[in-house]
Order: sequence, then C-alpha cells, then structure tokens
Amino acid sequence: MTEKITMKTTLVEIDGDEMTRVIWAWVKRYLLEPFVDLRTEYYDLGLAERERTRDRVTIEAAEAIKQYGVGVKCATITPNEERAVEYKLTEMYKSPNGTIRALLDGTVFRAPILCEGIVPYIPTWKRPITIARHAYGDVYKDIELSIDGPAAGSCVELVCTQTDGTEDNLLIFDFGAPDAPSTGVVEGMHNTDTSIESFARACMKYALDTKQDLWFGAKDTISKIYDRRFRDIFQSVYEKDYKAAFEDAGTTYFYSLIDDVIARVIRSEGGFVWACKNYDGDVMSDMIATAYGSLAMMTSVLVSPQGAYEYEAAHGTVQQHYKKYLNGETTSTNSVATIFAWSGALKKRGELDGLARLCAFAETLELATLKTIADGVMTGDLYTLSTLAQKKQVDTETFLLEVAKRLQDIEC
Ligand code: NAP
Ligand code: MG
Repeated sequence: MTEKITMKTTLVEIDGDEMTRVIWAWVKRYLLEPFVDLRTEYYDLGLAERERTRDRVTIEAAEAIKQYGVGVKCATITPNEERAVEYKLTEMYKSPNGTIRALLDGTVFRAPILCEGIVPYIPTWKRPITIARHAYGDVYKDIELSIDGPAAGSCVELVCTQTDGTEDNLLIFDFGAPDAPSTGVVEGMHNTDTSIESFARACMKYALDTKQDLWFGAKDTISKIYDRRFRDIFQSVYEKDYKAAFEDAGTTYFYSLIDDVIARVIRSEGGFVWACKNYDGDVMSDMIATAYGSLAMMTSVLVSPQGAYEYEAAHGTVQQHYKKYLNGETTSTNSVATIFAWSGALKKRGELDGLARLCAFAETLELATLKTIADGVMTGDLYTLSTLAQKKQVDTETFLLEVAKRLQDIEC
C-alpha cells in the first residue's frame, strides 16, 4: 500500500451522539485512518461532555472552526425535557448547531447525494438542488400575542420609537372595532440588513465556488417592504460585487416570485443553488430531501461570510436505531451523509492547503461509497427505494466494510 496521505492544517473534528457517534468511529477506523494521517483537533459534543463543561465545549468548537477554517461535525442531540431526565442535565442546553451557526454567522447549504438506482420522485431532477437557508430572524425570532381573555377586543398597533423620541403608530388590527371578531392572534417579526446581506453574499460565494446558478424567491408582491428588502439587498450585492464574476463563470443569478420559483424548481433538471428565506428553507429542505429519496442522503455545510466551513450530515442521531444497537440487535443505519461530511471537509482542507492527494482521496472515498450502492449493497432505508434488480440489505458496519473494500481496490 502507498504511503499515508499527510495533512497540513488541523481539521476541527466534532463528535456527537447516539447512532451517529457509533458510525463516526467506524468511518474513521475503516475509511479514513488506513489512508490518511489524520490531523484533527477533537471536540466531544456528546451530551455528557456538554453537561460536564456546561456547554463551553460547543463554544470552543465553534471558535476552533473560526481559527482553522474547516470543521466536520457528527449529529448531536438537542435536549428536550425527556433528554434532560435521561442525561441528568442541569440545564436545557441550546441546539449545538444553533450555537455554532450564531457564532459563525453562517448560512447552511444542504444538497442531496444522488446515486444509481435511487430515482427522485421528480424524474426530471438529474442533478442535486442545493438549498441555502437564511438562518436568522423572521418567524424564528418573532413575538407572538394571543388576543383573548383580558386582551380580547384590544386595538393592536406596531409602535416604532425613533431615536429622537418620535413615535410612529401603525394599526395592525383593531379587535375592538364594531363587527370585528374580538379574539385572535398577532405576530411581530424582524430581520436586519446586515444579516440579509451576509446571507446574500454567502449564497453568491457558494454558487460561484460550486459553479452553479443561484435562484432566489420571495413574496415581494404581497410583502412590499419586508420581502422587497430581501430582493433589493440581493440585487445590490449582486450588481456591486458578483455580476462580473458570475458572467465570467457563465452562471446566472435569478430572482422571481417564490410561487414562480417553486413551479420552476419542479420543472427543472436541478443543478442550482436555491436561496430561501428562513421559513421557506426550513420546509423546502424537507421537501427536497424526501423528493430525492432519503433524509439520510442529505449533506449539509455551514459557510461563514469569512469563509469558514463546517460539514455535517443533515439527519439527526437516529435514536431509534441506537436503542436497537444498545440492545445488541442488528441495525441498518445509512452512513453515507456522514461519510460525505468527512469527504467534503477533507476536500475543502485539501483545496485550501493545496494538497492534491487529499482532494483526490476525498473524491475516491465518495466514488467508493456510491459504487457500493450501485453494486447493490445498501442499508435498509435505500433498499426499500432502490430500483436495482440485484440488491441486498446489509447492516451498518458491513456497509462501511464494503465501502472500505472498494476504497482499497481503487487506492492501492
Ligand atoms: P433523525 O435522527 O434524523 O431520525 C429520524 C428518522 O429518520 C429515523 O428514526 C430513521 O427512520 C430515519 N433516519 C434518519 N437518519 C437515518 C440514517 N442515517 N439511516 C437510516 N435512517 C435514518 O431525527 P430525530 O429522530 O427527530 O432526532 C433524533 C435526535 O437527533 C434528536 O435528539 C435531535 O435533537 C437530533 N438532531 C440532530 C441534528 C443535527 O445534529 N444536525 C439534526 C436533527 C436532529 P426509521 O426509524 O424509520 O428507520
Ligand atoms: Mg424542517
């Protein structure tokens, strides 16, 4: 066997929870360590360690990504009340992904992994559609008010107090008006120009990096100030800083009404980046994942405006499978998105450090993974979807060993 590949800069490795933690160790043992002299700085974001450090470890991991530029993360539990009891938590820690995203001010790009024998529900989709979700504000940072009980019949206004003390009052709805229903709900939300601009820049940079067109849709016909602001900021960032580069790359930026964008997405062949407002991205990424086949085949990368990258699988810790694993039962959990998180991070590290061998290895690892599935060897989730005539379902570890065999064959 040829000499192991050496790395130059440290990669930030962030371990996680449950079934994905088990897979994490196997991916390293079978697919990475035999070929690469891994140079990583390890952060354990398993819930026990987050509890022990009172979640300081999550912040340290995010700071390390800022420092080194590239990280790879395993899925982690976001605690709820059940988990707080299970792990004897002293605090209900925030979602690690939320914390890391906030510290990096990043945008998340999610793309499906396409492979032979798994046909998307939309048969015209030949290439991946990458969803970029704006991860700040709107309904996720809203204030909601229930107008009932003593508040029934209220007159609800939006009040803007300017710096000189002048007040601007805008009527939202008068629940006390004659003939008006006296109860209901109201909501106030916001976004900031800075955050929208960061989002626009991240999308344009990512589309250029990956040589894809960028699409963006909002509802500016109805939301003439709020959504219009998104459209205008995107347009001005594009005109000012990206138009020439897009033209050189032969790619386009395209804005349309969200309804029209959705209709075009369905009719498209894929192969573009779709920038979505926060809520649109939340719901549309689930639609895209399902339509391409399986949530277990979605990759996710968080990109900061400063150009730091964090790669991960889009799915969670697969708790139900982990329970079986702990009981000694056979599991057939799909490790493809976790493998691609590693290959994505190693490829990026290789690009930034000018290490052609590391980039080539990352691509070979992806090829070996896809070849395994094309050869008809797959986990249960894909087995039920695959149109291949010859196929067999294997357990979690066997799938990784089968990938390792093919990787050996190509690498040696
Ligand atoms: P999940 O772990 O994604 O799993 C939901 C279901 O999807 C599984 O039960 C399984 O279905 C299927 N599935 C997901 N990934 C799979 C894979 N790799 N292989 C095969 N099947 C897969 O979501 P969840 O159960 O809602 O969440 C579990 C934990 O993960 C929670 O504590 C949550 O906080 C955390 N989470 C973390 C992240 C992250 O760190 N990025 C993201 C989401 C959720 P079947 O049971 O039908 O086989
Ligand atoms: Mg969602």
